[in-house]
Amino acid sequence: MRGKSGKRKAESGKRKAKKAKAESGLPAVARRAKAGKAETEMMMELRKTFQFEAAHLLPHLPKTHKCRRLHGHSFKVEIVVGGECHPKLGWVMDYADITAAFKSTWEKLDHHYLNEIPGLENPTSENVAVWIWRRLQRRLPGLSEIVVAETCQSRCVYRGAEERRGRPA
Ligand SMILES: [Zn+2]
Repeated sequence: MRGKSGKRKAESGKRKAKKAKAESGLPAVARRAKAGKAETEMMMELRKTFQFEAAHLLPHLPKTHKCRRLHGHSFKVEIVVGGECHPKLGWVMDYADITAAFKSTWEKLDHHYLNEIPGLENPTSENVAVWIWRRLQRRLPGLSEIVVAETCQSRCVYRGAEERRGRPA
């Protein structure tokens, strides 16, 4: 995980270099955009993965269920943002902006006992995903999906349908 995190940082550095290049001389994507090609309307999806360590128990399960006992996970959270590629910069957004938007939420989760967090009294992966979504939706335009994995084999995906239904198109 640490290795992956380092790679992401390297990618962020590359993006900064790309940004500088985009501002000085137009990259290929922007040249095609100027020529009126479809690249300006490319819908893209960015996925960035984070990890946090936390303890929890699921209080509504029978005492015989293993998840009723206090235990911990290395949770993984994938934040997905969709949008159009900027015609000049050639990206949807800076990955570093996703990290910045998630920072205060990550700090509330990492190395905490989730049941003590207001709104997470029943901290299933599903409820953690909804809780993260609600904290992020105003900070991260284009947020389209939150994935919460509590083990390598088990993960839950939330796409915010509940909130979207009430929104104007
Ligand atoms: Zn668990």
